[in-house]
Amino acid sequence: MMYKAILVDLSGTIHIGKEAIPGAIQACRKLFSSGLKVLFLTNTSKVSSTSLLHQLRDMGFDESVIPKSIDGRSTIMTSVGATREYLVQNGLRPYCLVEDDLIEKDFHGVSTEDPNCVLVGLAPNKFTYEKLNEAYRLLMKMKSNPETSSESPHLIAIHRGMHYKDSDHELSLGPGGFISILEQTTGCKAHIVGKPSRTFYAAALSSLGITNPKDAIMVGDDVIGDVRGALDAGLGGSILVKTGKYVVGDESGEKTEGVQPTITLDSISEAVDYLLYNQ
Ligand SMILES: [Mg+2]
Repeated sequence: MMYKAILVDLSGTIHIGKEAIPGAIQACRKLFSSGLKVLFLTNTSKVSSTSLLHQLRDMGFDESVIPKSIDGRSTIMTSVGATREYLVQNGLRPYCLVEDDLIEKDFHGVSTEDPNCVLVGLAPNKFTYEKLNEAYRLLMKMKSNPETSSESPHLIAIHRGMHYKDSDHELSLGPGGFISILEQTTGCKAHIVGKPSRTFYAAALSSLGITNPKDAIMVGDDVIGDVRGALDAGLGGSILVKTGKYVVGDESGEKTEGVQPTITLDSISEAVDYLLYNQ
């Protein structure tokens, strides 16, 4: 086998909304018993990581399919966890355009008083004119204040996915467009914490003890976050799956400045068999 580690996306790759993708449960079981190091790498920003694990359990991914942790490290790494670390390390107090569930469960200990940055995640209940305008005004103030204007970045995004496959199996708007509105109107460039950020991929590999990125491969349904992100971070390969947000032609490289997946397969089930038996 060529690879030592596999990073796997969650939403759109092993489940859609609250349903497991057909074959995904068996595929995950095979992966964890294969001897490969496995880590789920997710850009979710609508629910907390605790809720996420509960949801996976309800879909049939029980402890024997996706263990909560292996050798003391969590099997799921979320952009939310990485964001919390980033906020704490940089003394940031966010004005939050993220769902309340996240603030309560995952950002406890992070002060939101007297904000010195704006944080954006997927927040269907917060993307109103009033709240976006408040974020806009705060960013303009931070930019023009000589004491804070040089401190960057003011605009932090958990990720900037443009769309995702919703629980009704239709595509829905992600946070990406809302981040673009704030960037365009304020001139602030967003710092992206989750996929496709290289630092997020580097943290994932380091948590697995992988020192050469070429020893790892990524599997996911997002040609930018999963395919381009992984290859930009130096991973040995990336498999695009035709589930979730995949639309025909995604593998052409048109959306990714020519970056193309190593291979495009129908589903996680095919991807796992390809990795375990075809190399
Ligand atoms: Mg996905």
